[in-house]
Amino acid sequence: MKSPDKPREAPTFDSVAEFFAQALAIEVEASERYSELADQMEVHNNHTIADIFRKMASIEGLHRDEIRRRAGATLAGGRPASFSWLAPEGPEAIDFGELHYKMTPRQALMLARHNEERAVKYFEAIAAAANDPEIKAFALTMAEDERHHVVMVDQWLDKYDPDDPDWAEDLDPPVISE
Ligand code: ZN
Repeated sequence: MKSPDKPREAPTFDSVAEFFAQALAIEVEASERYSELADQMEVHNNHTIADIFRKMASIEGLHRDEIRRRAGATLAGGRPASFSWLAPEGPEAIDFGELHYKMTPRQALMLARHNEERAVKYFEAIAAAANDPEIKAFALTMAEDERHHVVMVDQWLDKYDPDDPDWAEDLDPPVISE
């Protein structure tokens, strides 16, 4: 999927090992951030959203494990990669410790959405730049999965009136497939 507005942060890779290292960094970050968001939502006594984030943490954890499995020994040869979740409004990496008691469920969902979208664009860019057909195919699969996560978060955001301070208090349990 070639596009002229390819994100500037999109990397190209000299080797399969580098690709896997980057993909792994994206999924490790997502899994850890979702776990932290879940903890934060429990501070807010919002167990519904906490459960959603736990579910997302485990889905991203499965991605992480899948990448590790596929990468196998190549990971050891790759340079270390990093990926940090960013706040929707700025280019700074997020200090989660500072946000602990401040973040509302809606802000948490917006944060998740922003970074799911970044993951989509990142994997799409990887696929577009890849010469190796195996990398291209795998990156496209990952992009599709991440796109599905954006939809899942959107579905949650759509359920609530943004102006209602109690917007998340009285939900039926969510049904999340996958
Ligand atoms: Zn995701």
